[in-house]
Amino acid sequence: MTTLLGAAEIREIAARIGVNPTKKLGQNFVVDANTCRRIVKVADVQSDDVALEIGPGLGSLTLALLEIANSVIAIEIDPRLAVELPLTVQAHGFEVERLTVLNEDALTTQSLPAEPTILVANLPYNVSVPVLLHFLEKFPTIRSGVVMVQSEVADRLVARPGSKTYGSPSVKATWWADLSGAGNVARQVFWPIPNVDSSLVRFIRHHAAGSESERLITFTVIDAAFAQRRKMLRSALSQVFSGAAEDAIVKAGIDPTARGETLLLRDFIAIANTLEQ
Ligand code: SAM
Repeated sequence: MTTLLGAAEIREIAARIGVNPTKKLGQNFVVDANTCRRIVKVADVQSDDVALEIGPGLGSLTLALLEIANSVIAIEIDPRLAVELPLTVQAHGFEVERLTVLNEDALTTQSLPAEPTILVANLPYNVSVPVLLHFLEKFPTIRSGVVMVQSEVADRLVARPGSKTYGSPSVKATWWADLSGAGNVARQVFWPIPNVDSSLVRFIRHHAAGSESERLITFTVIDAAFAQRRKMLRSALSQVFSGAAEDAIVKAGIDPTARGETLLLRDFIAIANTLEQ
């Protein structure tokens, strides 16, 4: 049986390749193998999965994914980590052919060498929401996944209307998927220990809520509504859609004095559709 990475080996590799973890790239590496196996289990990774990992770092989660999934595609922005990853995979007894590493900024990824079926990642925290939305949008073969994010971001992603944390990430993500909380992860499993808490979010894709042109206008409405979340809808939307806003809200059957934080995705879609007419 192969072994996963532990704390000592992680520090040894980082020192050898000259990686001093930076906040800028959200480099907090998981040093606990049980946590990595737990994430893979919560994600329900299967042997025939093509797993996509964003930000593999030194490979803690990558090795846990390779224990189950047939193949893994890993996107890492830091060239030193991207070069080292296949060597670590090989040193741990996995067939290196099962891993493809792309050294690029995940926010700009437009194509992948194979169609991913599942996304499992400890996301770089400063870009976690845009990265998640980007991959939901661009890669429809991803059926489900689990991402680790800062706990406050996890709360925002799974929030329902009316809650203080409900906002544009919550609504936008539901265009493609159902999201739910999947537990917390202790700070002590990271090196270096972050000064924020972390949580897992699970998602399962459903049919997209509409066409691409409907999505673009709906997202513009969502952005306008939450740019000024304390304002009534008619006033928040008039900043972007001027005079047409109030009419569209009323025609969509929504109270124009309501606030964006009380609306479901289908309400934003209804407003977007009437605006388009
Ligand atoms: N998966 C590893 C683990 O759990 O130990 C590392 C996770 S660490 C929180 C985030 C990783 O994402 C780092 O390796 C960092 O270099 C990488 N990263 C940061 N920004 C990125 C981006 N825009 N695209 C791809 N990788 C990125």
